[in-house]
Amino acid sequence: MTVLGPIEPDRLGDVLMHEHLLHDQVDDPCWFRPDPSPEVAAIAEAPMAMDILGYLTRSPFGNRDNCRLTRDDPIVDEVLRFKHQGGGTIVEVTSRGLMPDPEGVRAISEATGVHVVMGCGWYVDHVLPDDLLDRPIDDLATEIVADMREGILGTDVRAGIIGEIGTSAEITPREEHSLRAAARAAVETGASIMIHLAYIGHQAFPTLRILTEEGVAPDRVVMNHMDEANDLDYCRRVLDLGCVIEFDTFGCEWYYDTWGLWEPRDTDRVAQIAALCAEGHADRITLAHDIFYKQSLRAYGGLGYDHLHRSVVPMLLNLGVSEANLTAMFVDAPRRLLTLPTGGGR
Ligand SMILES: [Zn+2]
Repeated sequence: MTVLGPIEPDRLGDVLMHEHLLHDQVDDPCWFRPDPSPEVAAIAEAPMAMDILGYLTRSPFGNRDNCRLTRDDPIVDEVLRFKHQGGGTIVEVTSRGLMPDPEGVRAISEATGVHVVMGCGWYVDHVLPDDLLDRPIDDLATEIVADMREGILGTDVRAGIIGEIGTSAEITPREEHSLRAAARAAVETGASIMIHLAYIGHQAFPTLRILTEEGVAPDRVVMNHMDEANDLDYCRRVLDLGCVIEFDTFGCEWYYDTWGLWEPRDTDRVAQIAALCAEGHADRITLAHDIFYKQSLRAYGGLGYDHLHRSVVPMLLNLGVSEANLTAMFVDAPRRLLTLPTGGGR
């Protein structure tokens, strides 16, 4: 189910399974965290420009404008670069709390000819509605099902996957509520679920327990941001549970100085993928860039939606990843995950 309606799964082509095209959080971007030190206070509200790009590699959250992708940004041009590298489909997982713009996303798909599949459901705790726990899980599930069968947030743009569903380093009560609603909607519709995992912690395990308690099959669950953990053994253990794992932050190599954290390098990501492909797991790995900040766009000095095809594929081939492995990760696994049962599920 794309933003322009249903298509045959064989037409998806190469798929980026986890991106954002538009998330216009006008006043209060979800991840905006201004630096408290006075000497850099002006950076927080500065427009994107060359003289703050270096700062943003150390603190992506430190600038309000960087934390938004809006209709004023040249997203069409950026998506066309992916298409020109042979790309077919982008999965746009801007869930509630990140201000999805379904009609804007549909216009981008129309302008580029790139298929876009949109997500639905709720993001991480700190952007969830205060009254979420007061609402029955089945009511929330009904809203997700309506996003898939009628249209997202009252539009006529239908979602084709559930997610990204937010979890934090410790799953909060509101997040568990949202996870159970997503799970029930997945059972109802047959859709797959994308799970946003926090940067730290090993929350794939408790998350999967919640989802399977609600009847979700592990092979319909994609554990996102597994590359950020930079832990090959963790990847293997999650694969052992039957889930799909996602390496979806290619090109993100920045630091989070205020937290004392940094992203892995692409060299770390490709080495782990090569090892997992050699162990026969290629058909349960999906790939993306999770483009979210303006600094990731080519227009602002970033690597863009074409980075995987342009730069990472040659790195993978050099490490012995085969063309068949690439097809498994870019085409076969996404096609399986995005195929919905005829008749729309149960
Ligand atoms: Zn995420």
